[in-house]
Amino acid sequence: MRAGICEVMRRLCPVLVPKPLIERGVLLANIMYFDYLLAASITGVDENTANEEIEKLRKHIESLYKSGCEVCGKKVKDVTEYWDYVVTRERGIAIFDKFIPLCEKCLQAVRFDPNNKKEVKRAVKILAKVNKLKKNEVEEILEDLIRQWHLSSQIYEWKVYVDKLEDMGIGKKVADALLNSAASGEISIAAKRLTIFNPSGTLHKHLLYEDVDAICTGRYEASSVGLKASMQGIEPAWNNLSDHMEKLLTSKKFCKDEREAIRLLEGAWVIFVNRRSRAHIMGEALALARRGDLWSSRIETPVEPVEPAPIYFYVQSFVDVSMNKHVLEEIERLVVSNVRGVVEARFYPTSPEGGLARYHIFRYVIHSKL
Ligand SMILES: [Zn+2]
Repeated sequence: MRAGICEVMRRLCPVLVPKPLIERGVLLANIMYFDYLLAASITGVDENTANEEIEKLRKHIESLYKSGCEVCGKKVKDVTEYWDYVVTRERGIAIFDKFIPLCEKCLQAVRFDPNNKKEVKRAVKILAKVNKLKKNEVEEILEDLIRQWHLSSQIYEWKVYVDKLEDMGIGKKVADALLNSAASGEISIAAKRLTIFNPSGTLHKHLLYEDVDAICTGRYEASSVGLKASMQGIEPAWNNLSDHMEKLLTSKKFCKDEREAIRLLEGAWVIFVNRRSRAHIMGEALALARRGDLWSSRIETPVEPVEPAPIYFYVQSFVDVSMNKHVLEEIERLVVSNVRGVVEARFYPTSPEGGLARYHIFRYVIHSKL
């Protein structure tokens, strides 16, 4: 356990965050950017408490940035979170311990890529020097730590404890709810984005392969896809749609590499709404995902308080018109009960160059009378 390691490495000891927790952003630092309205709606914590706790957390972390490196006093590069990660059978437990501000060099010793030999070697060197230990002693401890990290990285279900936040006068309601939701795998708050996963909205692989096949054999063309869409009240951006399908057919991988093809089939319906509506819609979307309803495969929004705020509703196949219609009906229901006026939803496909394309291929207008 890490506690044991820190007893030997008294001045500076490493922390390796298990992979699933990194991927879903299970760190307190990810909460300090949150729009409190969004955090409140997702967690069910009241808005005032959410606002207060996020502010206090942010101020606390910011004040540590202004202090010096806790080990050597140099300029702080990052505030490291010390957590204890305990694995029991199929489940993991993560217990927050403390924040420690560290300079660039000290950081290299505590947070390194366990798969990168060069980084590990560098960490050993610094840790030995700072803790006044022999290099081979440190090497042995790190080998053990890395072995534990590999094991804990296989665990996907975690429970998080952040009781220490209360001792620090920050309050733990929002952090507890958000991090536990991320630790269980229903959301991610990594990379300043809130993502709601909806496994029941995930189409079966063979359906996706059929769509790829239909495009590559010419059974689905821009004209037929566009026509089917317009019959469902979805307005195709004709030029963009045919350019996009042409692009897929001429891209090297689409018709040859099944995994790449499936990635490129995906796209997202994007709407822009005000912050408060965004918060309500995301809260309701999480409830829908928890119920296991079949629609958008994941829903994303930046966590920051931007105005207006975009929401991305992902659909796995842009040529699956009935799936898209189904997702739109759900978006419409969410919009009508939370937004006043006209909201335009635009569908952006995945670009062969990566990320969503800059052009949209479908459009759908929602009139809300609220
Ligand atoms: Zn330092």
